Amino acid sequence: MAIYGFQDGQYKGNWKGTYFSKEGTAVWYTNSQNLKNIGDYDFRLVFKDVTDDTTELTPEDNGDVLEYVEYVFEVDNTENVIDRVIFSQSIDKVFGLEESPTWTGTAQTMTSAEVYALFDALVTNNSGYLSKTALGNDEWGNEMAIYNAVPPQPTASYLTKIPKVFVNCSIHGYEHVPAIVLYLFLKALCEDWNDDPLLNILRHEVEIHVLPVANPSGFNAYTRKNANGIDLNRNFAAGFSVGDDRTATEYSGTEALSEKETQYIYGWLEENKDTDLVIDFHNFGAFSGQNIDWITIKTEYQAHIARTLIHRMTQKFKSEYSWLPQGVDNYYGYTSGVLSYNGLVKDQASAFGIPLAYTFELPRSFWGTITDEAADEEHASMAPIHRKICVECFVNFLLINLDRIEKDYKLI
Ligand SMILES: [Zn+2]
Repeated sequence: MAIYGFQDGQYKGNWKGTYFSKEGTAVWYTNSQNLKNIGDYDFRLVFKDVTDDTTELTPEDNGDVLEYVEYVFEVDNTENVIDRVIFSQSIDKVFGLEESPTWTGTAQTMTSAEVYALFDALVTNNSGYLSKTALGNDEWGNEMAIYNAVPPQPTASYLTKIPKVFVNCSIHGYEHVPAIVLYLFLKALCEDWNDDPLLNILRHEVEIHVLPVANPSGFNAYTRKNANGIDLNRNFAAGFSVGDDRTATEYSGTEALSEKETQYIYGWLEENKDTDLVIDFHNFGAFSGQNIDWITIKTEYQAHIARTLIHRMTQKFKSEYSWLPQGVDNYYGYTSGVLSYNGLVKDQASAFGIPLAYTFELPRSFWGTITDEAADEEHASMAPIHRKICVECFVNFLLINLDRIEKDYKLI
């Protein structure tokens, strides 16, 4: 069964509202970015009511100018789905690790195959929770796959759709931090969830899909672009513009989706438009004593979430690391954004109607109280203190987004 959505023309990706129709009845639905009265209908009950094959319908004209977009929900088990997020405990809390996660690799010389082998081992040891979906190989024979952390749900007459998250890692090949952080995070979900109530929720009440290395050829060569010289994070269809300088850092290519890597990611997003949150995870250069996290956004609502993270992490790290700048106006992060689409992963996700999509960046390395004998070790990417702050920043960003998604649903 398919339910067709209609998006108003404000700008693609920022849903002001969507109409779902059955037998010519237009139903107003708003998502978490722009809450409005939904009238007599509950979006979730609409799913429940629709049991027949629904063909494309024209919504009733209620005065808004509507623009049809290529948006189709494929809904399984429509009799019983109540699509509402309610966690069993509050997640509006600050997440912190007791100690740095164990790690023995060398981040910057690691290969894509080594990363995938780590994820494969997690699947082997945690079948029933983790699974792997092959995407295919890139042009050079490097494997690409999505790892699915999908907790089974209890049997119930009415099923609750749990939040669905996609994390895209290391689309710029010389950014190895995201792949490793997501490995450490998934490992913690598998092995340490019982130690922390917030990990417990993420382990049992959220589904998380991870592409560990989105640019294997660039990852192996430690270059931003893939082996064809394309910046994959400019090669998506949403807002694509033809590149004119092959040597440019952000060279987009001659046509959208020219690369196998971007085709795979586009295909996954197209098949998973019911995803609630997309984090395209990058790293910038070494921490310079100022910014720890950098979030690029498209809407004021996303900026609010980003600022919440910056406040949260600044307060946490100020109290934990006395050697960090301690001024009242020192914030260890910033957020920026543009409304236009430029062929980025987050642009493509937004264009597919996924309400929350970000570029999220952490530093390549981060130093602590440096002693002479430990200087090199402490400066290294994925050194202990760096691992800890990266996992904490990522998990807190996830929690803040999920908490807002839950609160928005409650408002409706
Ligand atoms: Zn990047």
